[in-house]
Amino acid sequence: MRIREEPDFDEAAVTSARRFPSPRQSMTWREFANDFSWHAFFTIAIPPIATVYGALTTTANRTTIGFATAYGVLCGFGITAGYHRLWSHRSYNASRPLEYILALLASANIRHPIREWCYAHRIHHRYTDTDLDPYNARRGLWWSHIGWAFWHSSVRQGVPVNMSDLDKNPVVIWQERWYLPLVIFMGYVVPILAVGLTWGDWRGGVFYACFLRLTLSTQFTSAVNSLAHYLGETTYDDKHTPRDHWITAILTNGEGYHNFHHQYPMDYRNAIKWHQWDPTKWLIFACEKVGLASHLKRFPENEIQKSMLAMQLKKARVLSDRLQWPPDSNELPVVTWESFREQAQTRPLVLIAGFIHDVSAFLDEHPGGRRHLENNIGRDATSFFFGGVYDHSNAAHNLLSMMRVGVLHGGMEVKTEAEVMRSLVDGAIPPSKRL
Ligand SMILES: [Zn+2]
Ligand SMILES: [Zn+2]
Repeated sequence: MRIREEPDFDEAAVTSARRFPSPRQSMTWREFANDFSWHAFFTIAIPPIATVYGALTTTANRTTIGFATAYGVLCGFGITAGYHRLWSHRSYNASRPLEYILALLASANIRHPIREWCYAHRIHHRYTDTDLDPYNARRGLWWSHIGWAFWHSSVRQGVPVNMSDLDKNPVVIWQERWYLPLVIFMGYVVPILAVGLTWGDWRGGVFYACFLRLTLSTQFTSAVNSLAHYLGETTYDDKHTPRDHWITAILTNGEGYHNFHHQYPMDYRNAIKWHQWDPTKWLIFACEKVGLASHLKRFPENEIQKSMLAMQLKKARVLSDRLQWPPDSNELPVVTWESFREQAQTRPLVLIAGFIHDVSAFLDEHPGGRRHLENNIGRDATSFFFGGVYDHSNAAHNLLSMMRVGVLHGGMEVKTEAEVMRSLVDGAIPPSKRL
């Protein structure tokens, strides 16, 4: 039987999308005008300029700044819990009222209609760090942060991502249909009226509750595409650029554990540890408790732990490769007992666990004193070393192994292996062993 082909994959569409001219290539004025995003100009470039003008001409009222902060955080959930975790990734099911609330809140950030945003984001996940990724982090911090948004061609049309769920979602259709009135109402009218009607700070309403809030919301939202692909740890996989960092998490209502998110995009959480900052996760969880959300998806903990372990082993291997390790028994000369005894006449050689060690540089350093070592020169000190006199630590095992200069023919290396096995049974890392 023939294996079914991937239903929404269209190689020709990908190929043509890859050929689409990049905004960085030279272009005519007409092409420039067609490609330039006036939406980005008005929502990304103008608010900071207006904010600077407002800061120079309008006194900042504390209550207004407090309102702007609270409104900004609240509306940020529209992007994180709505645009991102609900509509882009279907990481939970939202009741209809919650969908409308999230669509309204998200509109206050003026970040394009739901469908458009999610289309770009699904491409970002499917083609992370490639030419098809609209905010390809490998093109630099500036490009992934803001640069891409100024060019229509950053989001290649025709890239095969499945949008059928959003195409039939009435809230998505409603928000796209009324996008302009909604962004004006939620982005400007509500905050200006709230501040102006309650404590009469109309100018503060315009410059701080609108323009300053929009400036920060754009910068913080964009940090997920830039900073979260640049700063932090690759906790689960280092194949691509996404990273985990608490700073990005604080700026973005919890979207900063981006390495986790790219590994498990359908998990409603970004942070999985109790102390990590992820208020979006807490909000979705609370919505489930009051019946507004359901079917919260969690990736199996066992599989998450496997990814973490793989990365931890990889990092441990890098460290292991940087360290100096004792010579392998195959690299050392094999000498007879007689030869060992003879050579010990001229240099301080001690036999322990089948290996011959030159302890000349250690005689005066030995914590147990020089005498114990000298008494064992030319002798088998295995039983003394392994507890006969003193049961040496792992550190002592490691240090001793670096003094190996030979192997005794028919010696007692078997005992070393037994020691290794004992360590493994104890769950400890065997001393003097490369990973
Ligand atoms: Zn990303
Ligand atoms: Zn995502």
